[in-house]
Amino acid sequence: MLQAMLFDRQDIRIVDVPIPAIGCGEVLVRTEVSTTCGTDVKIYQRGYPLLEPPHPYGHEFSGVIERVGSEVVGFKAGDRVAVHNTAPCGHCYWCKHGQFSMCENLVFNRGSYAEYVRVPGQIVRQNMFIMPDSMTHRTASLMEPFSCAVYGIQNCPIEQGDFVIVNGAGPIGLMFARLAVLKGAQVLVTDLMENRLEAARRLGVWSTLNLAGLEDSVEAVRALTDCRRGADVVIEATGLIDVWRASCRMARRGGFVLLFGGTRSGSVLEVDATLLHYAQITIKGVFHTMPLCVSEAFKLLELGAIDEDDFIQNEYRLLDLEAAILEHAAGKVIKNCIVYD
Ligand SMILES: [Zn+2]
Ligand SMILES: [Zn+2]
Repeated sequence: MLQAMLFDRQDIRIVDVPIPAIGCGEVLVRTEVSTTCGTDVKIYQRGYPLLEPPHPYGHEFSGVIERVGSEVVGFKAGDRVAVHNTAPCGHCYWCKHGQFSMCENLVFNRGSYAEYVRVPGQIVRQNMFIMPDSMTHRTASLMEPFSCAVYGIQNCPIEQGDFVIVNGAGPIGLMFARLAVLKGAQVLVTDLMENRLEAARRLGVWSTLNLAGLEDSVEAVRALTDCRRGADVVIEATGLIDVWRASCRMARRGGFVLLFGGTRSGSVLEVDATLLHYAQITIKGVFHTMPLCVSEAFKLLELGAIDEDDFIQNEYRLLDLEAAILEHAAGKVIKNCIVYD
């Protein structure tokens, strides 16, 4: 089968490898759609500190079960499935505290840019779902990033009518924006690229603001809130430390800031300490997602909470993966997808 491997920064190779053998609790899935992700772009541009190259590439996909291990329950060959990329162990210190995204034995499944994917048992049991006939593989492939946005939004104390700022209109920022709209919030989305803000406007947000060329993004944003008081909730979805810093200054007194976008390692966040004391703001970071939010994301996809066409623009073949990644990296699309024979 064909599989994309990352040999180094900016060195994707499509190699021919044997179809993976599966263990008794595992499942082999024939890939139908894999979607590009901001994380894939980052890994392509900067490398990935946690893995020694060459390593399998990609983590968002959906497909059809080709084969199941002897001990697999609830799935059979031919099932169309949405598959998440991780699963916690359920028994470590953090899992026992319900902090599943901090699990010290989190199983990762990498290598979704491939004709077949072997799904570890931990993921089969916790984070794999049979798709209803009405769900497309493109939509199902959005489950992983969407589950991260679902987890993030659940950490935000958003009430109906709240003013919510989402900084960053990439795929995750747009998903946050959509979920905040569904919660009845007045949502403002900021970004530097007009095409991405246009995508935000299709999701029913109250307004968008292009920060390109603005000297003081914090003041510009606060000016749009009642009495310039700032937002009830600010969500950071760019992964840029300057935006983390600015986000902390966009919240109202007593407001809430969710810092979601992963920054470069070694980034340092400086925050005016008086904001935490006298302005009593809450700053929270979250990472990834957890099984409850994956199943909720799957349900929301089934209910049509987001439309795949708002998130996935162009289709590529696996051999043209690099072009799909580069187009994503340039911000010309929200996401691209790879399709298979
Ligand atoms: Zn992703
Ligand atoms: Zn654990």
